[in-house]
Amino acid sequence: MRRFVTCSALLLLLAAPLGCGKPGTPPAKGPQPSSLPSYQVATAPAVTGSPTVDAARGRGHLVIGAKEDQPYLGQKDPASGVYSGFDIEIAKMVAADLGFGPDRIEFKTIASANRETALQNGQVDYYVGTYTINDNRKKLVGFAGPYFVAGQGLLVRKHESGITGPQDLAGKKVCSAAGSTPYQRIQQQYPKAKLVGYDTYSACVDNLITGQVDTVTTDNAILQGYAAKVPDELRIAGQPFSTEPYGIGTPKSDTALRGAIDDALARHEQNGDWKKAYDATLGLSGVPAPTPPAIQRY
Ligand code: GLU
Repeated sequence: MRRFVTCSALLLLLAAPLGCGKPGTPPAKGPQPSSLPSYQVATAPAVTGSPTVDAARGRGHLVIGAKEDQPYLGQKDPASGVYSGFDIEIAKMVAADLGFGPDRIEFKTIASANRETALQNGQVDYYVGTYTINDNRKKLVGFAGPYFVAGQGLLVRKHESGITGPQDLAGKKVCSAAGSTPYQRIQQQYPKAKLVGYDTYSACVDNLITGQVDTVTTDNAILQGYAAKVPDELRIAGQPFSTEPYGIGTPKSDTALRGAIDDALARHEQNGDWKKAYDATLGLSGVPAPTPPAIQRY
């Protein structure tokens, strides 16, 4: 049992091509590089007047903030250092329109609680990682998009019978990432839950598998990825109970960059790249591609 738990937990953290468990166990499914679209890099990029893009041109590459432990969305292969997933594809298609091919992108992992500071300090040029657009965050950063809409859900152990929705959380140990909207929602609307905060959701999932917490709460798109990796142990309970529109975070004052990213998203949604990217990444967790949401320019 102990070995199985350790192995499952490891699968969540690693980019999965490692065989784990019994000899002959097939590797967990992940984005296959051959099925990923490539995006035409603009030779005369339209964006002018963006201090962020000007600085990136001077440096020679873009620095993009992302997540590294969210299967099918943003995941880093610990051996190769390569990032993959739907958010990573979104980051790349936008970069292509700004004139930067994949060889001119450096991804940097930034946890949920540190995104605003990273954008404000210029640690990243933009951020693509399950980042909900909301008015509080808009006071600190800009948002292009949305490019996807998720909803908060609950991940439980497969045989859990006491949790079917947020109304069941009183007295339960509930884990989420500090600084995230799901964490804040539990704190404010379900104060009887025993809320535990970690830097990452993968740490919460490890604690769920080993029985230290009763449920992990965050966006359903993220939870689907964890459940799909270990379907014998984990499942999603109940229905989504919030709306989480995902935006690309930008430095607040760089409105030229925000507008250029909105244009890029609209173009790639229209030309089919968005759907191809979804099908090759998040679609592998079993949910068919939705229609992308309307871009909200502000
Ligand atoms: N979308 C939510 C948020 O931005 C949860 C996912 C995350 O922490 O990245 O807070």
